[in-house]
This record gives sequence, C-alpha cells and structure tokens, in this order.
Amino acid sequence: MSKIQKIRGFQDIYGEEAKKYRYVVDTFRKVFEFYNFKEIILPYVEDISLFKRSVGEATDIVQKEMYVFTDKGGREVALRPEGTASCVRAYIEEKMYAEGGYHKLFYEGAMFRYERPQAGRYRQFHQIGAEIFGVSSVLADAELISMVDNVLKKLKINYKLEINSLGDFQSRKSYTQNLVNYLKKYENQLCETCQKRIELNPLRVLDCKVPTCKEITKEAPKITEFLSEESQKRFLQLKEYLKALNVDFIENPRLVRGLDYYTDTVFEFITEEIGAQGTVAAGGRYDNLVEQLGGPPTPALGFAAGIERLMLLVKDLPKEKPLITVIPITPDYNIQSIQLSNKLRNINLKSETMLKEGSLKSMLKTADKLKSDFVVFVSDKYELKDMASGQQEIFYTQEDLIEALKDKI
Ligand code: ATP
Ligand code: MG
Repeated sequence: MSKIQKIRGFQDIYGEEAKKYRYVVDTFRKVFEFYNFKEIILPYVEDISLFKRSVGEATDIVQKEMYVFTDKGGREVALRPEGTASCVRAYIEEKMYAEGGYHKLFYEGAMFRYERPQAGRYRQFHQIGAEIFGVSSVLADAELISMVDNVLKKLKINYKLEINSLGDFQSRKSYTQNLVNYLKKYENQLCETCQKRIELNPLRVLDCKVPTCKEITKEAPKITEFLSEESQKRFLQLKEYLKALNVDFIENPRLVRGLDYYTDTVFEFITEEIGAQGTVAAGGRYDNLVEQLGGPPTPALGFAAGIERLMLLVKDLPKEKPLITVIPITPDYNIQSIQLSNKLRNINLKSETMLKEGSLKSMLKTADKLKSDFVVFVSDKYELKDMASGQQEIFYTQEDLIEALKDKI
C-alpha cells in the first residue's frame, strides 16, 4: 500500500518539538495572566470578506496566500490567515463594547497561509497574540510592547525591537502620495512585485527584501517627517514610556508591516539567528479597524508572535519532573503495581506502570528507554532503584517507599 504523506507546508510537531511548543505558549500565557488579559477561543473558518475588509484587498495575504473555499451551503469562507480580524469581528458581534470599560483579549492557535514553505515559514503555523480594545492612551502601546519584551526575555531569546509610527490616516495619506511620487522616478529599477505595489500598496515597497529595491528606498522620504502633531506627540511619549520600562528599542522609519490596518505605533521583534524569517513577533495600533468592520469607533492595538519561529530559538527547556516506573516482577503483582502508580500520581509524582510484560531484564531495559529516573520492582516488597547511581533500597510498605521517594525528589 502506498503511504499517505502530510501536505506540503504542514507539519507534525512531536517529542522535544512539542515540548518547545508548549513551553513557548505557556510562557506567554502566564505573562498574559499577570497583565490581566482574558482568553478568546476563535473559529478557524471565517467569511472571506472579513479578511478582505481588514487585512486589506491589496495585501499579499489576501491576494495570494489565503486558503479559500465554498462550503456546502455556498458560503465563501477562508481558513484564518491571522487572528486580529476574528478578534475584532468577535468584539463587535458579541457587543463587548456595550460592557463599558475596555477589553484585553488573547488567542492562540493555527493560522493558514499558502506561502512558499521554508525554515520558519509554513502553510499551517501557529500564533499567539493579544489585543486591547477601547484604549487610545499610549500607555497601552507601551505596556503591550513591554509585555512581549518580558516574554522574550523569559524565553532567553536574543532579539532587537524595532518601532515606528505610521501616523493617523491623514498623515499616512500625504506620506503615501509623496512616496509614490518618489518611487515613480525609479519605477524601472524596482523589482516586478514592487512595480505593482506602487499602485496597489506603496508602503510595502519599503520592506521589500530585493537589494536594488532596498537601495532605492534608502533615500525615500521618511514617514516620520509627515506625522501630524498629535502622532508625533504620541510617538515621543511611547519612547519615553518604553525607556521608563527599560525596554530597548531601535527606531526604524522603514518599518511598515504587511497588513493595511495599522495606524500610529508599529513594532517588530526581530532575531538574526534564523536567517531571513527573522520577525518573531509583531504588531501595532489599528484605531480605525473596528469602525471599518461595522463597530463603533474604537481605538485598538495588538500583536502576534510566531510560535514555530520562537521554537527555533528556544535552547533550554525547563527541567521535567522525574519519572518513577513501577514494575510488577510477575503478573501476580499487577494490581498492587497499578494501585501504587495511582497513589504516586495523586501526590503529584510522575509515574509510569510497566505496560510491557517480559523478563525482569527486558522490563528494566524498557524502563531505561522510557527515561525513568527511578524504578520500583513490586513483589511482596518494594525494591527502589535509582537509575542514575544504580543504588538500590528495599521497603516493606508503600508508605515507607513513598516517604523515601518524596525525600529524593
Ligand atoms: P513575514 O514578513 O515573515 O512574512 P508577516 O508580516 O507576514 O511576516 P504577521 O502577519 O505580522 O507576519 O504575523 C506575525 C508573526 O507570525 C510573524 O512575525 C511570524 O513570526 C509569524 N508568521 C507569519 N507567517 C508565518 C508563516 N508562514 N510560517 C511561520 N510563521 C509565520
Ligand atoms: Mg508574510
């Protein structure tokens, strides 16, 4: 029979990799909790118009990367390529705004983009992200960025943080016009994609990776020169707050991000350790998006981190609990053994019952394969073996054995 293989760009995450995945996610989740973010579990499938109207018709994501299909009811749907759009939809649809105050949400899970697979770039990948709705204060921008900074520090990752301001719609509009005029002068020298971007999505030319495009945009007008007074003030304030929070940053006036909805603050956490796929977390403010999707005017901001990219950077995993494997020396001691294992688990010790019958020697070998730290041979007594030192001790009651194990662990 021919074997069935996984689809290109999709992967199985297991063993050490699965541990890394969990470690990255748990680290974020713990920090989110201390910042008082609440979880939202969002659907994987959404109406395709949601992404057209938020991420933007002209973006790479909507133009060529979305998994779209018509469901049996004739609905045009997409597998979600990102999480912010769904969060905003839910914020509006569930009328969270009516509750008053403001909302801090986080989400986690698979995203789908039909991209060219390579290290750190997959067609199904996983993000963890957070959004704040209903806050215009720059305090929120600073706290959000500082929260991500905290997580990456906890994960012991080397990174730099780049920030920029895209200004409000007005300043962005006048900047875009200026940029287009500048780019038109060099149109023939730009890569094919950027030639199209001049009309479609000119800001995106600024983060093209093609060397000639990079060279040309070096001298391009900078968005920071077009910021309204209000946007300038906000950007200054953000920098002041970040300094106060001991967050190191670099200003990058070319940082524009690939999605249409950003206004004012944008940021990226970048590493140089995994080649071209260096952005591990990114986000910004999107003060017009809620209204654009039919909600009341609501300032908002958020970020998303790429879990697989962070997994590539995680070196040390936290130490695991030691494993105690309980081995009945003959099936006569099976019941006693499963009862002992349960007792150990109930007092938060990690226990494995030897599930494979065999000679003592072969069961001990299996215990070793399972990476047991301790083995208990069960007969009319309990023989405890420390697998690292080889040291053995005999106990005549479960209570004595358990006391001894507690001391060792
Ligand atoms: P890039 O420039 O690398 O394509 P992006 O601007 O498309 O990134 P966002 O939409 O902002 O990325 O997504 C946030 C994060 O999700 C990225 O910084 C990255 O870590 C991760 N990410 C995005 N696309 C992929 C992918 N195809 N595979 C793995 N991770 C991804
Ligand atoms: Mg992308």
